[in-house]
Amino acid sequence: MTNSIKPAYKVAGIMGWPVGQSRSPLIHNYWIAKYGPEFGFSGDYIRLPVKPEDPNGLKAAIAGMRAMGFAGCNLTMPHKTAALPFVDHLDPMAKRMGAVNTLVFADDGSISGFNNDGFGYVESLREVGYTDFAKGSIAVLGAGGAARAVLLALADAGAKEIRLANRTDANAQAVAQKFADEFGVSVKAVPWANRCQFLEGASLLVNATSQGMYGQPALDINLDALPVSALVSDVIYVPLETPLLAAAKARGHQTVNGLGMLLNQARPAFKAWFGVMPEITPELRAKALATFN
Ligand code: NAP
Repeated sequence: MTNSIKPAYKVAGIMGWPVGQSRSPLIHNYWIAKYGPEFGFSGDYIRLPVKPEDPNGLKAAIAGMRAMGFAGCNLTMPHKTAALPFVDHLDPMAKRMGAVNTLVFADDGSISGFNNDGFGYVESLREVGYTDFAKGSIAVLGAGGAARAVLLALADAGAKEIRLANRTDANAQAVAQKFADEFGVSVKAVPWANRCQFLEGASLLVNATSQGMYGQPALDINLDALPVSALVSDVIYVPLETPLLAAAKARGHQTVNGLGMLLNQARPAFKAWFGVMPEITPELRAKALATFN
């Protein structure tokens, strides 16, 4: 019997609960097939369902991955923060975020943690031609993990005026305070009750709440005050067109859904594990889109 596993075989995966719906295997296995033959590696990217109920489950799962020689993994809900104690080296963005979405296992057994969600978000805007982040003001809705990633990445990309509104006002205020105190980033917290007026003059609106996601009600907001020139983006990708994006399209706004963020956050992780910065080809985008049919 011939051994089909080459010396440069590598394995990575997505660890979360649930993970059955994840598109990450499609993305990374596409790139493994595309780049592996040219660059001399083979591999697999698999789903790693790890239930949160077992207090030692995540630790044991990460130790098991290291023992099995994994190149690394992505982390999704509910493990993005819970994994922090098991990381030896945190990159600056993950440190500021207090959450990791990518682990990389080095040959010496050490684990590095990264957070590429914000990178993915900003790249998804650049893809559609929104590149001048210093221009105009940016209105962000939400103060959870996705919102913090978006806010930090926007600030790093040069955003000058960022407003933030969140259902629980205290959470928006806490984020604004932390950003000012720890990162020197100015974010103006606006009361949720004023979220419609806070759209006035904005060049970009971001929904980083969970509202509009499959199984959740639509985001409760009226877009009347938003200039039609504003780009409207949603970090959600299930469904691809949230009620917010549908309403924005009907008003004539350019819109961006969360699929671009998902695809782009995967690129640096693949590079860290397999050594190649992959491209989001039209074929990959079409394959990803086909999973929503
Ligand atoms: P999270 O940390 O739980 O935060 C949820 C946010 O939604 C909070 O700001 C919360 O406000 C707000 N919210 C919840 N219920 C609400 C309601 N009824 N009305 C208004 N606001 C409400 O979740 P997350 O990790 O940030 O994820 C948020 C979304 O981002 C999810 O849909 C997730 O799938 C998506 N996401 C996408 C990507 C991607 O690659 N495209 C990556 C990460 C996340 P409170 O503070 O008041 O609770």
